[in-house]
Amino acid sequence: MIMDKDKSSLYEYIDKIGSELKSLSDDIWAYAELSLKEHKSALRYIEFLKKEGFHVTENISGMETAFSGSYGSGRPYIGILGEFDALSGLSQEACKTSESPLSPGGCGHGCGHNLLGAAALGAAMAIKKYLSDHPDCSGTVIFYGCPGEEGGSGKAFMARDNIFASLDGAISWHPGDVNKVATGSNQTSMQVRYDFRGTASHAASAPYMGRSALDAVELMNTGVQYLREHMEPGCSIHYAITDAGGLSPNVVQAKASVLYMVRSTNVRSNKKLLARVDDIAKGAALMTGTTLSRDFIDGTSNMISNHVLEKVVYSNMLDIPLPDYTKEEWAFAGELFNTYEKNGLPGIDPSLTPEDTEMITKLSEDGKRPINDFLIPLRDNRSVAFGSNDVGDVSWQTPSVYFYGTTWTSMSPGHSWQNVSMGKHPIAVKGMMWAGKVMAASVLDMIKDPDILKRAGEEWEQSTGEGYCCPIEEDAVPKPIE
Ligand SMILES: [Zn+2]
Repeated sequence: MIMDKDKSSLYEYIDKIGSELKSLSDDIWAYAELSLKEHKSALRYIEFLKKEGFHVTENISGMETAFSGSYGSGRPYIGILGEFDALSGLSQEACKTSESPLSPGGCGHGCGHNLLGAAALGAAMAIKKYLSDHPDCSGTVIFYGCPGEEGGSGKAFMARDNIFASLDGAISWHPGDVNKVATGSNQTSMQVRYDFRGTASHAASAPYMGRSALDAVELMNTGVQYLREHMEPGCSIHYAITDAGGLSPNVVQAKASVLYMVRSTNVRSNKKLLARVDDIAKGAALMTGTTLSRDFIDGTSNMISNHVLEKVVYSNMLDIPLPDYTKEEWAFAGELFNTYEKNGLPGIDPSLTPEDTEMITKLSEDGKRPINDFLIPLRDNRSVAFGSNDVGDVSWQTPSVYFYGTTWTSMSPGHSWQNVSMGKHPIAVKGMMWAGKVMAASVLDMIKDPDILKRAGEEWEQSTGEGYCCPIEEDAVPKPIE
């Protein structure tokens, strides 16, 4: 693929609207709203899309902060996924190399979703410009405002309503510490809260009158520890006691709750594993004479990778020059880089060859270079990474791809004050602009060369043979993080 005139004008256009995208990203950074409570952020996007002539649909799948904006007509229908939720407890001043909360205990964009959404919108805007300059060209670009990525699984609730099923392809990116196509798969996950109710009584004078909900939680957790040995490979289970019943040891605790996250390599096996956890919860209630109620919170599917689209994205990553950084930016990154522990090399995964590892060792100065200003090679990755995200659900409904762009210092801890500090920094803004161009160029390839989406669709048909099994239970409703 050579740099063509249409692509050059996409890049020029993204540069032209760069200050608008930066101001959008900065506003979202400042709002720092939690999952499914992103009201100001969603409104900011919706107003932008309306002003630019996109056809906007609001309140998707019962979520007030889920929306879409489409432009163009006819196939292909291509989705660009945006996110904008923040994390609690990560308030931090921008562009600082030491921890310094803006409002102690407040929220912050520790996962860079302010940059994620703004670059995605920039790409959608550039494709809109291309389509309006080429009225004979068939194609529709749809920007999806996907809420609740950090908690709530917005895209999975949208996928339960088949929101992405009519697309011919979807693309996204994520801020990161490397420039790399996201390859391979990851785990599916499901979260359920178990609430036990017992009877309170004086723990010393009338313990026989009490039925302890806290005992039930403890027995459930013990039961699950025994389950771990007998799970399929690739599964993991985590829990948090969200309510231990109170602070008084001389009371038999009448209520207690525990939140479980159950993960496997695919949704069907995860549902079976979750049913075994449910049985353990019932057993704990039976043993303690308490009652149990179960609340399904959210879930995500494993990612179906698409090598055809990965190659398209990678070739654009090779074509679009990576950002250059000034002396001041290197100095800032160097100081921030020194504020956390790290080991190993950036961007490594099991698909990389020994030659790739050697190259990364050299370019990253053995992991000591504060910014990874190079591209990680693309290989055919069949491994399953530990962890989950809700792009997986989109990937079960349409051929999907996403990539990472360098916005953070090398091996920066995820969900950290360091990432929040970077959220408005020129280094991150350069990464955001580059990511917007990579997405726009890749979408343009999909529009102009029908063979790409044909091959991507064939690969997708093969990889999703058994069909989408939504991880979200039928009667579940989206729930904001408390
Ligand atoms: Zn994220």
